[in-house]
Amino acid sequence: MQKTANPSQKSKVQWGTPIQYLKGVGPKLAELLVKRGIKTVGDLLEYFPRAFEDRRAARSISTLKLGELVSLRAQIAKISAIPLGRSKRRMYDIIIRDATGQIHCKFFRVPYKGYFERFGNGKDVRVIGKVIEYRGRLEFHHPELKDWEEEEEIKDDVIPIYTEIENLSSAKMLRLVRSALVQMPDTEWGTEKFPPQILKKYNLISRKSALKSLHYPESENAQKYMDLKSDAHRRIIFEEFFWLELYLAAKKAGLKREEGIPLAPSQKLVPAARKNLPFQLTGAQERTLAEIFADFAKAQPMYRLVQGDVGSGKTMVAMLSALAVAENNKQSCLMAPTEILAEQHLKNAEKVFAPLGLKVGLLTGRMKVAERREVLEQLKSGEISLLVGTHAVIEDEVVFHDLALVIIDEQHRFGVEQRAQLKNKGRSPHFLVMTATPIPRTLAMTVYGDLDVSVIDELPPGRSPIQTRVIFDNKRNQALDFMVQHLNAGRQAYIVYPLVEESEKIDLKNAVEEFEKLQEQFPKIRFGLMHGKMKGDDKEKVMELFRAGEIQVLVSTTVIEVGVDVPNANMMIIEHAERFGLSQLHQLRGRVGRGSHKSFCILIMGYAVSEEGKARTQFMEQSTDGFKIAEFDLEMRGPGEFMGTRQSGLSGFKLANLVRDLALLQNARSAAFEILQEDPTLSRTENQQLKNELLRAHGPTALAGIA
Ligand code: ADP
Ligand code: MG
Repeated sequence: MQKTANPSQKSKVQWGTPIQYLKGVGPKLAELLVKRGIKTVGDLLEYFPRAFEDRRAARSISTLKLGELVSLRAQIAKISAIPLGRSKRRMYDIIIRDATGQIHCKFFRVPYKGYFERFGNGKDVRVIGKVIEYRGRLEFHHPELKDWEEEEEIKDDVIPIYTEIENLSSAKMLRLVRSALVQMPDTEWGTEKFPPQILKKYNLISRKSALKSLHYPESENAQKYMDLKSDAHRRIIFEEFFWLELYLAAKKAGLKREEGIPLAPSQKLVPAARKNLPFQLTGAQERTLAEIFADFAKAQPMYRLVQGDVGSGKTMVAMLSALAVAENNKQSCLMAPTEILAEQHLKNAEKVFAPLGLKVGLLTGRMKVAERREVLEQLKSGEISLLVGTHAVIEDEVVFHDLALVIIDEQHRFGVEQRAQLKNKGRSPHFLVMTATPIPRTLAMTVYGDLDVSVIDELPPGRSPIQTRVIFDNKRNQALDFMVQHLNAGRQAYIVYPLVEESEKIDLKNAVEEFEKLQEQFPKIRFGLMHGKMKGDDKEKVMELFRAGEIQVLVSTTVIEVGVDVPNANMMIIEHAERFGLSQLHQLRGRVGRGSHKSFCILIMGYAVSEEGKARTQFMEQSTDGFKIAEFDLEMRGPGEFMGTRQSGLSGFKLANLVRDLALLQNARSAAFEILQEDPTLSRTENQQLKNELLRAHGPTALAGIA
């Protein structure tokens, strides 16, 4: 199927040739491409199709079935722009028809400016999309819409579809990429980076054939291409995962060689503290604690991630670990993402530490100078066994007597750099990182490839499950009445408003305005307001009043998302629930269901919600399992939206998908770890390219562990 080039057209281009020197690319086009990250001919060849279309499967409207991905030739019959609620946003509804019938194509956002002006009434278009059902009718949402004329000249059976770049259509993109392929001499492809035994063991085709085949798909394997599972896809996806895993494997190898200071097991303090606890640890807490204590005994520092759903009792595990450290006459530091959380941790820690005659200190950004000085002195002298704080603990001024354990709560909020700064405050301290981000276990091993993982997969007994309901805005008053019933019975509640970056001001106004309205509507109820723009002191005052029950309803933005623990609150109402990620909703919902009373979570959706948004939100009704929710969210939205994935290098994939390609991910991980096991310094000739690639992508520090 590959077109043979006219030799006279063949000018020398190389992988790194700037895109403007490619034949057929003028200055204007070059500018557009560069703006989208396509700077060289190589970048263009790595501009992968996002889908494939089998032209032989072209269909007519009357034969469409739910769930099919189809390609149609049709005519534009009508375009209308429909306002969405009170906002300025519009939904575009395009009706297309062919000889057999008509169907709606809906767009909830404009792909780019001027997009809809391209398609006048009666225009011939090609529509590629997935058939979905909405209110009992088949429709397309965000299909590909293209001018028919422009498409005509490509005669292949299976056609790669590229994401359009402004007015550069997929068809033009295809012509451009293919022209680049033709102009690239064979000698310019570079050598294969993977050693031959990897290619063989994992049954991978060469990089060059993979790239070519993505832009010239084989029609006999059409279905595989359309499922993004062709040999070409396998090769590229494997490679994307492999580089990440090799980096992680190298890092882990480095950590394993670091020297640490072993700690003696706790004989007195931990057993004593356990006797004082009003409850028994769960089996999962016990197991995790045992894993931590085993790490403490080793001559290398611990790097352990403790992953547990909200309310699974991670904090207690951290406290007991810190006690074991104290018994060795060393110090621990617990860093939390917010002041509210730090102060809450302080209160909990004091309950455990004070009866044993041990001191806990607090350090946040808003302490008085004298207070702060005292804490710093006690820290330096070793009087404080556990320091709890926010980012403030990182500052240079903070000096420990002998720091042996660093605990980081809700790790996705911290960068790798901050981890390193804390590390320098002690002599190879142990690291305990706690997160409630419920990543599926297999994935966690891979994402946090350099950390060991403990999972607390069990909730303390006696929690009553949270009942969740999704409602539309018109049922809001009923929800509030329901809330008032519970308030009258002595319970407390949260009402949460989203705060998304783009419209922070508007949303803030929403929370404040609604707070005022609610007070008017329910004059007998005591409301409190909390948002991120408030001063720390004011926030803590509100939180204190809420904890004491003086405030019955806390109206808040998502500042209460992590860790806040008020067991008497059994009701949460979340406004505009469709704007939140599911994992975030799950975190928020975890604020209730902490006491013995039956708990409720009511998710209110605005009308402007898309079908997909609705389905996502409704999943919250079905599941209270953070892991299942995370998996579903990952599938629906992809890893880009996933908390904490950015810093772990997971968002840079072009083709790979963490859910769809999990098996390949595991293969790539094994391959990377095997290679380092056999050749720990990557010094064999066949591994030279791997070493170079690590160096190129991550700089010299990537090799620190294996050099
Ligand atoms: P996480 O940080 O994992 O979300 P927390 O550590 O805040 O959870 O624990 C939630 C609540 O459960 C706290 O009030 C804590 O005291 C309590 N708790 C912890 N472990 C147990 C247990 N084994 N049995 C009963 N309650 C527990
Ligand atoms: Mg917590």
